[in-house]
Amino acid sequence: MTTGYTETVNKLIEELAKLPGIGHKTAERLAFHILKSPPASAMALANAINDVKTKIRQCKICYNFSEADVCRICSDNRRNKAVICVVEQPKDVIMLEKTGQCKWVYHVLGGHIAPLDGVEPADLTIDKLVERVKAGGVDSAGSPRVEEVVMATNPNMLGDGTALYISSLLKPTGVKITRLARGLATGTALEYASERMLTDAIISRQPLE
Ligand SMILES: [Zn+2]
Repeated sequence: MTTGYTETVNKLIEELAKLPGIGHKTAERLAFHILKSPPASAMALANAINDVKTKIRQCKICYNFSEADVCRICSDNRRNKAVICVVEQPKDVIMLEKTGQCKWVYHVLGGHIAPLDGVEPADLTIDKLVERVKAGGVDSAGSPRVEEVVMATNPNMLGDGTALYISSLLKPTGVKITRLARGLATGTALEYASERMLTDAIISRQPLE
């Protein structure tokens, strides 16, 4: 499909075409845009990609993206560390934070349990969450015991299944387990919810049975 271009250009088109939502035609257009751009702007893109892959790691407490061992949210002392909100992906943290309603901390699972796709509980950070709740806080310096775990997995079959599985593991700890309210249409993903919908879902969260 990419015959006619040099090997180097082909390689760039191939790599761009791997990005989500980018078809071959768009990849070609982007490749030519990069070829035509001044070296400094093309290198800025290359460096930005390099930086996210070398500087960004996972927070060792919540597993969100972070530039330090502990992310900004986990190291913020104004946050209520007794409430942990469990989400599937880092982008869900961003969506929830946009509402301005969240004073809690997070736990990023890294996906949902999906046996048909080969995603087992051990592939997610579920064991780390259970440890975190059992340890009664995030640090040894007198941080409060975890009082509530808010399940904010996506309101669809896999998200619900994951929340129920986690809740069964957490039940013996006696922690209160809640779920974002169902103002969110069932079957949608958190990332597509409006701020208004999310705010309602946060405020009227319900116990998870
Ligand atoms: Zn963190």
